Amino acid sequence: MGSLAFGFVLPPEKLEALKSSLSVTGVANEAFDQAAFQGRCLTDMNQRRLQVNLLPLKRDPEVQEMLKTWCQTKPFSPEVDLQHVFRYLEQAVPTIHAMAATVCWDTNSNAVQEGLLRWEDVIDGQQECLSTYIIRDGLRVGCLAVLTQRLPVFDLDNAKEQKGPALTQCGRCGGTHLVSLEDVRRTIVLRCPDCRKAYDLLACDSEGMFRRANYFLTGESRLSFANQPPSEELLLKIWRAVLTGSHYELDDDAEEQVESWKTPRETVDDRSGDCEDTSILMTDILLTEGFDARVALGWNVYGGEHAWCVVRLNGKQYLIETTDRRSDTPVLRTVEELAQYYTPEQTFDRKQIYFCDDKPGAAEDYWNEDIWTAVSNDKTRLALK
Ligand SMILES: [Zn+2]
Repeated sequence: MGSLAFGFVLPPEKLEALKSSLSVTGVANEAFDQAAFQGRCLTDMNQRRLQVNLLPLKRDPEVQEMLKTWCQTKPFSPEVDLQHVFRYLEQAVPTIHAMAATVCWDTNSNAVQEGLLRWEDVIDGQQECLSTYIIRDGLRVGCLAVLTQRLPVFDLDNAKEQKGPALTQCGRCGGTHLVSLEDVRRTIVLRCPDCRKAYDLLACDSEGMFRRANYFLTGESRLSFANQPPSEELLLKIWRAVLTGSHYELDDDAEEQVESWKTPRETVDDRSGDCEDTSILMTDILLTEGFDARVALGWNVYGGEHAWCVVRLNGKQYLIETTDRRSDTPVLRTVEELAQYYTPEQTFDRKQIYFCDDKPGAAEDYWNEDIWTAVSNDKTRLALK
């Protein structure tokens, strides 16, 4: 008797071969040109954005790479939970600020492309970049599309125009965080929320541009003291020139509060300036004449928030007060002698800013490296990738 066979048994090696051929045709994708598909979507979407006066979307290679990784490790389906995509991308690219995602399925890639164009978030002015990943799953073609906006990176040169928070890096601990300069004060100390330390010192110049403190020591005071080596005598001579050469006006006395620092040349030309301006002028001349000098910012027991100048000469540190109009014949006093009246917080020269972080002894020794931490003036900018 025979029997009707509905099937037949394959030898094991043939079964394996068939399984792998099935997986090639059935599950894995035909090789889409991901970049070309993304390019076509961008062209379409940017035409649509142009009609509503929005800037064109761009590519974000880092987000694109992460989306590819996600799609290749967790093949997506029409039921993909977009929250998972969000969480993954947020972790992988922490500087993402805003995000929208969609998944679009159809019979072919052209139809998917058209479907994506109807996505309302395409005309969201907040979004800046498009990333896509297209796959074939059986008879269907699907695309996972993500719109992203990254946090801008803080850039001192553009800080005046920059609205809202921008990403910056602490020059002390290296941590990244947000900074916003909307609250403009005369002197801006940037403080890190991670290590809690101050790491940058900024001020507005007369044009309203944000500058790092070092910028103001321009070396252009135009006061010159013909080739004398640094000495106490020369120090006193410069001090007298700064004290008597101008009648300085405190910004506080002026009718309109000035929210900027002056360069040495501006202080000389205006014949006026407050404690920061004249300390900058004094320090700038001293540096030009070969002295080891710094501008100090902090507190004075009588004057409140204050600026002064410190100079190191022959193993001694002197405190130079540039706003004391009573004294036409200044007397050199060491920082130790005056320590009880002054509480420094930051000092700076042409290259670095120094922070004492409230450590004891700062007012007695402005050059002690155990107390004062130098932060070089290019360390606090994030490198733009
Ligand atoms: Zn820090």
